[in-house]
Amino acid sequence: MIKQLPLIIEEAREGLRAKKFSCRELVDAYFERIEKIDGTLNSFITIEKESARVCANECDEQIALTGYPEDKPLFGIPFAVKDAICTEGIRSTASAKILDNYIPPFDATVIAKLKNAGGIILGKNNCDAFGHGASNENSQYGPVPNPWNIKMVAGGSSGGSAAAVSANFCAFAIGEDTGGSIRQPAAFCGLAGLRPSYGRNSRYGVMPMASSLDTVGPLARTVQDVALLMEVMAGKDERDGTTVQDAVPAYSAEIAKLPKKLRVGLPQEYFTGDLEEETKNIIEKAIEDIKNLGVQVSEVSLPHTKFSVPVYYIVVPAEDSDGVRAEVDNLFDTYAESRAIGFPTEVKRRIMIGTFSLSSGYYDAYYAHAQKVRTLIRQDFDKVFETVDLLLTPTTPTPAFPLGSKTEDPIAMYLADVFAVSASLAGLPALSVSAGFNAAGLPVGLQIIGPRLHELEVLQLGYAYEQINKWFLKQPSL
Ligand code: GLN
Repeated sequence: MIKQLPLIIEEAREGLRAKKFSCRELVDAYFERIEKIDGTLNSFITIEKESARVCANECDEQIALTGYPEDKPLFGIPFAVKDAICTEGIRSTASAKILDNYIPPFDATVIAKLKNAGGIILGKNNCDAFGHGASNENSQYGPVPNPWNIKMVAGGSSGGSAAAVSANFCAFAIGEDTGGSIRQPAAFCGLAGLRPSYGRNSRYGVMPMASSLDTVGPLARTVQDVALLMEVMAGKDERDGTTVQDAVPAYSAEIAKLPKKLRVGLPQEYFTGDLEEETKNIIEKAIEDIKNLGVQVSEVSLPHTKFSVPVYYIVVPAEDSDGVRAEVDNLFDTYAESRAIGFPTEVKRRIMIGTFSLSSGYYDAYYAHAQKVRTLIRQDFDKVFETVDLLLTPTTPTPAFPLGSKTEDPIAMYLADVFAVSASLAGLPALSVSAGFNAAGLPVGLQIIGPRLHELEVLQLGYAYEQINKWFLKQPSL
């Protein structure tokens, strides 16, 4: 019997290794908790009880025969997957009714790698449909309340994944981040979540949202777990031509070696009007903690930051809409009807904005122009990384906001991404790590941004900070 579910992956591995519990007991304990509490959180769309139990039994047999296989870093570790990521034989809806009965015949590359490392899929997580959103309220399977306060949003678009890890329904979850969809829900739910550099992890089998920005990465309770998961997930994939050849560092072995004389920049544009006062105070306290680690901190500037949200919301809908246009006459009614029912409002809005900004006459004024400003945003980062190694910012301007408070105002919802989208447009790695809680008990996230492919330094600083307050030990009371 498991009295207390493990909080981090190594604790689960140790429990299995030392036979404190069997893998089957672990899987069943998570299912029991899901059944008891997920009626409130709605974090799962599909639960895979049968196949997970079969996998767990197989793991137990292998442990009994040959002991715990140390070469499999996730052996017997239960996890969950955002529903916009394909999983072989498991329904993958992307939270849109148009895919309600879609069962992919293949695994996304990252999922295949996690399974090869011994991970066991418990089910698929609710999200904003096709990743479109910042609150998980654009799901055709209902919203996901925040485990710390069920009147608040869990964040989006990977809100179900964040809520599931935070509520201890699984050891970790896999999300997708185009413009903040891993970092923002991680921040709102008190977790660590990494958006890797564009091209670091394969996107094969991840339902595309905006192909020049999409990334796939882990949500876990600690930065240490994120490092371990990245080690399993990252690397070149022949099936995704945008993945890079560069060797994947031994993130978990290197994570505790914070580089000496690390220089960190605070981009002043992230500490202005948009940032709520209490969140600012919490982030400033985190910066003090980081200074006390011997890190050199200075103010820097990313002057084109104010254009990031407008540029993002032109480029992303344009890439979104490209590929869903089909105006074949006799099929028109079928397409019109199925999309009217099968796509939520936000998906339709983005397809319309994107189609408009790509149409002749408007292309130069909107899409081409936005791409030019995107280059300026990237150049801001190139320049700043000549003088500092990493950047520190709040992940979000406020903690989790009330359910329903922004659903009627798409612009207000888009502005929830204000601190997340710049790193996305520039293809950079960015981590959100828990920086503690506000007076109302809601988590606040600290964002660490690094130069492209410098996940290791980002994780090293995140880990060093995480050790100071160990916020991850605090759990929501559910
Ligand atoms: N909130 C952002 C959007 O709606 C982020 C989406 C994402 O990263 N998938 O586009």
